[in-house]
Amino acid sequence: MLNYPLSLNLIFEHVRSIHGDKSVHSLLSNGKIHTYNYTTFCKRVVKLANAICSLGIQQGDRVATFASNTYQHLELFYAIPAAGGVIHPINVRLSSKQQLKIVQQAEDKLFFVDDQYFDRFSELQKEVDTIKSIHFNTDEVHDSARFIHEYEDCFDGVEDICIPDIQDENCALALCYTSGTSSEPKGVVYTHRSVFLHTLAVNQTEVFGITESDVVLPLVPMFHALAWGLPYAAMFVGADIVLHGSDSECVVDLIAETGVTISAGVPTLWGRLLPELQRRKQDVSSLRRIIVGGEQMPSELIEVYENDLGVEVRHAWGMTEMCPTGTFSTLRREHQHLPDTEKIRIKSMQGRPIPGVQIRLVTEEGSILPWDGEAIGEVQVRSPWTTGKYYKSKPSTKYFTTDGWLKTGDIATVNRDGYMQIVDRLKSLIISGGESISTTAIESVLLQHSMVRDVAVLGIPDKQWGERPIAVVALSKNTTEDLSKILTEHLIGEFPKFWMPDAFIAVDEIPKTSVGKTDKNAIMKKLIESE
Ligand code: AMP
Repeated sequence: MLNYPLSLNLIFEHVRSIHGDKSVHSLLSNGKIHTYNYTTFCKRVVKLANAICSLGIQQGDRVATFASNTYQHLELFYAIPAAGGVIHPINVRLSSKQQLKIVQQAEDKLFFVDDQYFDRFSELQKEVDTIKSIHFNTDEVHDSARFIHEYEDCFDGVEDICIPDIQDENCALALCYTSGTSSEPKGVVYTHRSVFLHTLAVNQTEVFGITESDVVLPLVPMFHALAWGLPYAAMFVGADIVLHGSDSECVVDLIAETGVTISAGVPTLWGRLLPELQRRKQDVSSLRRIIVGGEQMPSELIEVYENDLGVEVRHAWGMTEMCPTGTFSTLRREHQHLPDTEKIRIKSMQGRPIPGVQIRLVTEEGSILPWDGEAIGEVQVRSPWTTGKYYKSKPSTKYFTTDGWLKTGDIATVNRDGYMQIVDRLKSLIISGGESISTTAIESVLLQHSMVRDVAVLGIPDKQWGERPIAVVALSKNTTEDLSKILTEHLIGEFPKFWMPDAFIAVDEIPKTSVGKTDKNAIMKKLIESE
């Protein structure tokens, strides 16, 4: 066989030569839809890649994006890696302090900024001297000395000759940060090889199952594990792609106007969209499947989508560390004859590993547990698209086993058919609206306040968001002051608004386990008892 490198180039060349007439539809901030075909898209990508090279970006340099789901961002998903750069989509929802830490670690050489995030970006620019940026969707020219030029200028007088293919499939394509379980940023590098293999894997019928006739709307932000790989997967098979900008209010209109057949997003979003989708059921009849993950999909929501709207729900589990897809819950042939309630129960499990992913359940002592639907252990995973270390850190046995598996920090059972059911989380993470919130990070900042002697932040179930954080605080001295106000003000500059605990509860002591660790189970029990 030819020793042919697995790279994004294979996807790009296929899109360019086979699917040129397919469309990218992108919702603009003025409410209009911008549409062009893949031939135009590919021509722009080639020019953009040349422009990026001419700006001095070299193999392995990180190039950051500060953008939502737009056609320009999609172009950058292809052009930055084609130029040899590493695309680093920044989570625009993080606080400026969190973004600064990430940017300092990533050492991004160049930024592409959607103008709607100009103010947020300017705060970063003040802190980091070397930031050079290119802006798009600009209505006004900003007075910024380090703003190189506008995005559309990248296409003027630039070569449209393809840049030579990537030769080393193990070179970096993207850098994605996970909100993580610690206050330090945790970056994950995706290689050309891992992205290519992930793309093939998710494009199987039993996974995303996208076909050439589909119209795909990734509602998951492009900074969240590269929109779960959809920008590559959907275009590779020749489906049309639809991008909603940052406006989830217009999603139902967009589905109706562009005939979306498959969409993907977190359960909270699907819960929010449901009433409008039900009201306009006839208009959105093209929608045949939603891919849902990032947090547990409630079975009641699966039931309404499937039985009322006639939309198939595919519940998935994964992590930024896994590119991100790990398991998918689709029914087996033998399940087809089961009563509806039983089918929904199976679909609300996280599902079976997709081909190429291996999982195992492990006890705290390291013994492998059986797949009997009862034994509970930590999920460990490995695949060609699972990372073996965090960016700029040594492989650590805290996160990886010595025999090459990732410790996910998720606690689960697996039944005899290989269906995984997450039952708990080992890691200090709350998932709210599909986004991770680090409890350790909040705790460490709260501990810096003179009023706080000890603290535990924990997630409590929430109907709308899945989970919300609350803080249980042991005070250093009694006070009559407004605790919530004082501590929220203390946190606000450090973290995004959605990280703010919904309540601050003062207690005498934080319960500890026998080894002196905060006993969150005991706190939770007390909270339930006092309700
Ligand atoms: P992130 O890397 O930010 O996507 O977060 C990954 C974590 O989200 C996983 O380790 C799980 O704790 C959680 N997660 C992802 N998908 C699901 C799901 N379908 N059900 C429950 N938890 C999930």
